[in-house]
Amino acid sequence: MTRALVIGSGHNGLVAAVHLAEAGVDVTVLEAAGRPGGATRSAQVTRPGFVHDLHAAFLPMAVASRAMRELALERDGVEWVVPPVVVAHPFEDGRAIALHRDLDATVASLGPRAGAGWRSAMGELLPVADALVATILSPLPPVRPVPRLLRGLGGATLDWGRRFVGSVQSLGLELLGGDARAAAWLAACAQHTGLPPTAAGSGAFGMVLALAGQRHGWPLVRGGTGELAAALVRRAERAGARVRCEARVTEVVVRGGRVGGVRLAGGEELPADAVVSTLTARPLAALLPDGALPPRVARRLRAWRHGTAAFKVDYALAGPVPWAAAEAREAGVVHVAGELPALTAAAQDGERGVVPERPALVVGQQSLHDPTRAPAGRHTLYAYAHVPRGHDLPDDEVAGRIEAQIERFAPGFSPLVLARAVRPPHVTEAEDPSLAGGDLGGGSYELDQQLVLRPHPALARYRTPLRGLYVAGASVHPGGAVHGVSGRGAARALLSDRRLRPWRAPRRAA
Ligand SMILES: Cc1cc2nc3c(=O)[nH]c(=O)nc-3n(C[C@H](O)[C@H](O)[C@H](O)COP(=O)(O)OP(=O)(O)OC[C@H]3O[C@@H](n4cnc5c(N)ncnc54)[C@H](O)[C@@H]3O)c2cc1C
Repeated sequence: MTRALVIGSGHNGLVAAVHLAEAGVDVTVLEAAGRPGGATRSAQVTRPGFVHDLHAAFLPMAVASRAMRELALERDGVEWVVPPVVVAHPFEDGRAIALHRDLDATVASLGPRAGAGWRSAMGELLPVADALVATILSPLPPVRPVPRLLRGLGGATLDWGRRFVGSVQSLGLELLGGDARAAAWLAACAQHTGLPPTAAGSGAFGMVLALAGQRHGWPLVRGGTGELAAALVRRAERAGARVRCEARVTEVVVRGGRVGGVRLAGGEELPADAVVSTLTARPLAALLPDGALPPRVARRLRAWRHGTAAFKVDYALAGPVPWAAAEAREAGVVHVAGELPALTAAAQDGERGVVPERPALVVGQQSLHDPTRAPAGRHTLYAYAHVPRGHDLPDDEVAGRIEAQIERFAPGFSPLVLARAVRPPHVTEAEDPSLAGGDLGGGSYELDQQLVLRPHPALARYRTPLRGLYVAGASVHPGGAVHGVSGRGAARALLSDRRLRPWRAPRRAA
C-alpha cells in the first residue's frame, strides 16, 4: 500500500487527503498547529459567543470550483449563506455603489451611464462565467474549458483579453463610461489580491471577482469558515485519512534521489513513498535539503516574492455598523476606500513601504446574514488592510487607523465596539507559517508569478523534479483562495504516477 504524507491541514491538504484516501493510499496529514484548517479557521477571539473568521471568509471560488463542489460538503454539514447585497462601496458623502446578486439592482445602483456599461459587460460575460471560472480554476493547460470560453466570447475575445491583462482601473473606466466612482467600486474588488488598481493583470482579478459575485454571490459558511474545515476533516477521516496536529515538519527526507519521508520537530522521522506539500514557496524551500531540487528551481522558490501583508482586526459590536450609506448596511462585504484616487493612494503608500493614513479596507459583516455568529442583537465585524511587509508602525497605531477609517464612513461606529482582536502579520505567520509575512495570497499576483510561472514551470503540474514530492497550496497555480484546485491536482498527479485509480465523484456532485 502506498504511504503518503500531506504537509499542512489547510483546505488544500484536506482535499488532497480525501482523494488519496479514497484511492486506497495510506495517508496522514501533518499539521503544525493545535487544530486543523489553516487559513479556513474560525474562533471566538473577542468575547464568548462571537465567532470570527480568522482568515478566509467569503468563498465565491469555493462554490464555483469543481474541486470543492465534487466533495458535496453540504452532506458533511456545510451550509452556505449568500447575502443578496454582495459588496457595497460607500463614499464619504453618504452614497454608495453596490454589487447585488440581482443584475437590475446592480445596474440601478451604478446609475444610468455606468449601469448601461455594466449591463452590456454582463451580457457578454455572464453566459461564459462558468467557462471563464473553469478556465482559471483548471490545472494547466486548461484544455477543456478554453474552447467553450472562446466560442462563447466570439468577437469580444480580443477586447476581454486586452482588458484582463491591463489594470482594473483602466478596465473600470473603459467599461463604466469613464465614471470614476464606478471604476473605484470595481477596482476595490481587486484589493482582495493585494494588487494596486493600476497594476497590469489586476483587471482580470477585479472583473472575475465581481463577475463571480454577480453569478454566485460571495457566500459565507453558516457558523464560520471553520465549519468548512471541520467538514473537510470529517470527509477525509471517513475516507480513511488521519489528521495529526502539533506535528511540525522540519525537513523533507531525501534518500537515493527521491523522497523518503519527513522529519518532525522533536526528531521523529516518518517514512513515506510520497509527500504532498501544501506550503507556500519559501517555507517549502526551507524544508528541502540542499541539492534536492535543481538549482534554478530552488533559487526561484527561495526568491519568491510574497505580496503585501494583511493586518486584521475583528470586532465584537453592540449593534450593526451605522454606515452612512444605506446599501452598506445590508451588504455582506463593504470595501472602505472611497474615491478612486484614495484607493490608488493607499496602494501606492503600501508600495512605498508606508502604512496608509487612510487604509483601504475589506470589511465583512457576517453576523448580519448569519445570526449564529453573535449573541442576539450583537454583531461581529471583520476588517483587514493591506500593509507593507516589515513596516515599523506599532500594531495599536495601525489598528487605530483601521478603526478611524471605518468611523469616517460610519460615524458612531467606535462607541459600539465591545471588544477587538488585533491580528497583525507576525501573529498570522506565527500561527500559520505558510502565510509568510502575513501575505494572504501565497505570493504576489504580478504577471511574472502567474500560470506556469507560479512558482516555476517545473512545478506547474503539481509534480516536482524530486521524485515523490508533490506541491499544492497558494504559491502554485491557480494561487490563493479557497478552491481546492491544487490539493486535488497534487493528489491526482501522485495517484497517476503510482498507477492508482483516481477517485471520481458521483456525477451529480461534480
Ligand atoms: C486575512 C486573510 C483573508 C482571506 N480571505 C479570503 C477570502 O475571503 N476568500 C478566500 O477564498 N480566500 C481568502 N484568503 C486566502 C485563503 O484563505 C488561502 O489562500 C487558502 O486558505 C490557503 O489554503 P491552503 O490549504 O493552501 O494553505 P493554508 O490554509 O495556509 O494551510 C497551510 C497549513 O500548513 C500548516 N503548516 C505550515 N508549516 C507547516 C509545517 N512546517 N509542518 C506542518 N504544517 C505546517 C499551517 O499551520 C496551515 O494549517 C484569505 C487569507 C487571509 C490570510
